[in-house]
Amino acid sequence: MALGLIAIIALTGLNVYSLTDLRDTRLEADHERRNKQLQNIDFQLTQEMNKPFFGLDKLNLNSVEAQFRRTGKFPEAFKEEVVQALSSDLFNEVYYTAIDVNPCEGQPILRFDADSNEFMSTYEYPKLVCDGTGVARTRVNTVFINNYDDEHNNVIGYDTHRTLNIALMDLFERSTIGYLTFIFDKESLINYIKPSIVEEFGLEDETGVAVWLYDWVKDEVLATNAQNLSFSVDLVDNTESLANFPDWSLKIRYNTEESGAAYTTELIKNFLVLGTAVLMLFGALLFMFTTAQKERKLSIRQADFIANVTHELKTPLAVMQAAGENIADGRVTEEDRLQKYGDHIYNESIRLRKMIEKLLDVAKVDAGRALIKPAAHSLGDLVSAFVEHHNPYLVDKGFTVTTNLQDNLPAVYIDPDSFETILSNLTENAIKYSSNTKAVHYEIVQDGNFITCSITDKGVGIPKKEQKFIFDKFYRVEDPLTATTKGHGLGLSIIKNHVDLNGGSISLESEPGKGTTFSVSFPILAENNPVKSAATTGPSQNHQSTNKKNIEYVG
Ligand code: ADP
Repeated sequence: MALGLIAIIALTGLNVYSLTDLRDTRLEADHERRNKQLQNIDFQLTQEMNKPFFGLDKLNLNSVEAQFRRTGKFPEAFKEEVVQALSSDLFNEVYYTAIDVNPCEGQPILRFDADSNEFMSTYEYPKLVCDGTGVARTRVNTVFINNYDDEHNNVIGYDTHRTLNIALMDLFERSTIGYLTFIFDKESLINYIKPSIVEEFGLEDETGVAVWLYDWVKDEVLATNAQNLSFSVDLVDNTESLANFPDWSLKIRYNTEESGAAYTTELIKNFLVLGTAVLMLFGALLFMFTTAQKERKLSIRQADFIANVTHELKTPLAVMQAAGENIADGRVTEEDRLQKYGDHIYNESIRLRKMIEKLLDVAKVDAGRALIKPAAHSLGDLVSAFVEHHNPYLVDKGFTVTTNLQDNLPAVYIDPDSFETILSNLTENAIKYSSNTKAVHYEIVQDGNFITCSITDKGVGIPKKEQKFIFDKFYRVEDPLTATTKGHGLGLSIIKNHVDLNGGSISLESEPGKGTTFSVSFPILAENNPVKSAATTGPSQNHQSTNKKNIEYVG
């Protein structure tokens, strides 16, 4: 029991720990998932910006440049790439700066004119081109220093959210040919990011998760899914910088409270389930413990029983042996002594027979072989015959015997031998457990669809708390009278078994010091034909619907 308790407590502790841990891990996993969604927005944006230039790698830029030097015009394939890039809303215009031209010194560069589908020379271009080509140059230098892989003929460099710059490379010479500078449309960029935020995270009103596209240089929120929540750094749980726009970042508030509360509710539910399981385990442990205790008590009682029975079998045998020996030796010749010895042998043999019968009864019940031969009988008749037969014995013991047996009651389907066993055991107990007032009363009544036979004594009674145990095999109430009364705690278990075999039920009412009533009930036969009772046959019987047979024998 103690080990079981320790195991349950240890298991419960482990479960509580792992459930709490599970909640924290789930919260962490939730946050991890949110961060992945932020990275996803950034990744998609980069993909979207790079997409138009995937075809550049396939062009031979040496021949592109050669044609440009020769004719002053770019080949169609090259222009197609540029047109495709410009078709994205993200870019406003594009400039080409040859390697030998410096846009920071106001030298003319080329601007792509969508109407004529040609690059035109211009002096009018934003300062952004100077900055952008500077960024691209630095990128190219880094790439060459880090062992250029010769696979790509262009390198992309971003000047924050202002320009995307592509350095076009000569893979033979390992040198730069020129720069394409695409001017970002800031509004379009923001308009591209905003729906992706809503798509990934839903609206803050509905999900509780708030995401802001934030420009830290200008301290300005560019886009958000939280219209009703004003931005504050205190609200931010995590920040994800955008790879190509270092002055922009995505900031998120996880809504830890709501998902934390949901997980806590789940945790409480889990604790409830765990609590119930632990209670059930305790119940099972308690059940096993009490069953084991019962078994232990039963085996102690069984051992006592065997010791007692052996002793009790030996006593009458010894008496009979001594008496028989004396007669056989011819030591006893006088008639009155011979009769006394004969009585002794007779009485002891009856005691022995009864004891053996009881043992056989228990053995039969244990082996499930208590065969019964039921038939329609009037309980009144059976009780009446029993009382008549045993009355002299009861009177001899000093008992007053009274009956209240209604005639004409419907028959029950019962084995008369079984009923005899029930009556004799109950009568024997009434005798054994009566000390001052010696009275026994037999009664038969109809109770709805049942006929009930009660046997009442005015004996020591049975305490309430003992009553549910007395039908157990070998159980005896621990009181002074029982201690001095012979018995093995088998009578009531035999009775109960016979009652069950005959489809009946048994109950008792008892008050210590006042007496006990045992009642056995059996269902009325379906045909409901009253069995003709010996007491009710005769000419007057038809006029007695509730003929009562009240008899009193005084001891
Ligand atoms: P036994 O009488 O051999 O002990 P039983 O199974 O007949 O065994 O009875 C079990 C216990 O119930 C008895 O030991 C006794 O304490 C109690 N008991 C049974 N019948 C009565 C009764 N009529 N009055 C008081 N106690 C009784």
